[in-house]
Amino acid sequence: MISAVLAAVSAAPLASPLASPLASPLAAQPATPVYTPGKLTPAQQVARDVYKEIIEINTSVTTGNITNGAKAMVKHFLAAGIPEKDIFVGGPQPEKFNVVARLRGKNPAGRKPLLLLAHIDVVEALKADWSPEFDPFKFTEKDGYYYARGIADDKSMASIFVANLLRMKAEGFVPDRDIIVALTADEESGPFNGADWLVTNHRDLVDAGLVINEGGGGVLRDGKPLFNTIQLAQKITTNYTLHVTNRGGHSSVPRKDNAITSLADALSKVGRYEFPVKISDVTKSFFSQTALLETPVMGRAMKALVANPADKAAAAVVAGDEKYSSMLRTTCVATMLSGGHASNALPQLAEANVNCRIYPTETAEQVRVALEKAIADTTVKVLIKSQRPASPPATMSPEIAQPVARITKELFGNIPIIPTMSTGANDSRFFLALGVPAFGVSGLFMDPVADARAHGRDERMRIQSYFEGQEFLYRLTKQLSTNPAPVP
Ligand SMILES: [Zn+2]
Repeated sequence: MISAVLAAVSAAPLASPLASPLASPLAAQPATPVYTPGKLTPAQQVARDVYKEIIEINTSVTTGNITNGAKAMVKHFLAAGIPEKDIFVGGPQPEKFNVVARLRGKNPAGRKPLLLLAHIDVVEALKADWSPEFDPFKFTEKDGYYYARGIADDKSMASIFVANLLRMKAEGFVPDRDIIVALTADEESGPFNGADWLVTNHRDLVDAGLVINEGGGGVLRDGKPLFNTIQLAQKITTNYTLHVTNRGGHSSVPRKDNAITSLADALSKVGRYEFPVKISDVTKSFFSQTALLETPVMGRAMKALVANPADKAAAAVVAGDEKYSSMLRTTCVATMLSGGHASNALPQLAEANVNCRIYPTETAEQVRVALEKAIADTTVKVLIKSQRPASPPATMSPEIAQPVARITKELFGNIPIIPTMSTGANDSRFFLALGVPAFGVSGLFMDPVADARAHGRDERMRIQSYFEGQEFLYRLTKQLSTNPAPVP
């Protein structure tokens, strides 16, 4: 299904220019640059200012205060003329507020709102862990990149959504459906206080017919756009505890049975264990289309694997690239360790946390049983510690696929749009679980190796990519909120 839609998208609609009042004068000139270094347009300057402001408010999970970031964004919405009654700010914890702002539309056919979702909390970052020239909470520009914690994940999209809403408001644009911008807390460490809380407690605020969220984006190779993506599916995060107890004793009288040794053995087995390769509709589409852009060896392996997921040689080649490896199967990795109570005592307890990213068609219990089998030691208990609910993948529809293909062509040239499964989790799952289509789309292009720094040190965003992403999301938002949708 998905690949059929995608095939249709990358064929006809890409080639035809759009006849509509929204069609930009740039439409037929993909080469016209959106961004000129040192010369920001007024709309770009607004985006950069909002970006800098939200970046420099520390909203990290344990030391930050997300509410300060939320309130700063409220100021912009009010100044732009969004009435107070259309702005919500709140959350279950005083330091973890969310903001939801609504640009009212005409709603002629009762079309449900378009929700633009971005989280404004970020992963912790210590200055000492970053290169000396960067402070993770200072917006720094260097050699064509912006650097800071959250600069990619997810304050780029958050600031773009805010700036674009201000731009549309200033232009007097009245959409045909409400446009909601929701900037949320607790994506990184939650759920409970962010999108999940809004959906559960304030459904009316975020009730939408379509959600655009993080998770997608474009891929650069040698600085040139290679393909754009729409994220449809995601793996499911589940944590397991490996738990070993022992009667203990004096360390001067050791025995073969030992909680730490048993745990270490178990962890080694988990480290070596490989879950079976799975291919879903989404990854089938992804690998089939990526195969055409890859090296001949990788391309052949991807095609072989799609034809036969049991092809071990092909799986080994694809798994040789870490970008692709975790899309092939459930993965489990040891992330935390504790055990023992004294340096001169036999340990009575040893525990490890194993973090798994479960393939969407598998269950936490199936993975637990697989781990138990791989460990094959009844003294090691495998317990599900925390489990996030699974969500079905989104189904590609022309409503999203056609405008994404067209705007991609306008801005980046004739490149394919490839559906993806995210190996991490994002808040789209709360909407997908309710049957609301949620897509990861950003138009933000990055180098999958050099720029893959989210959650890590020296997180960065290519400046050109940021402003192109802003323009991409501006056009996409307008397109998705114009009714009837123009015929491509
Ligand atoms: Zn994120």
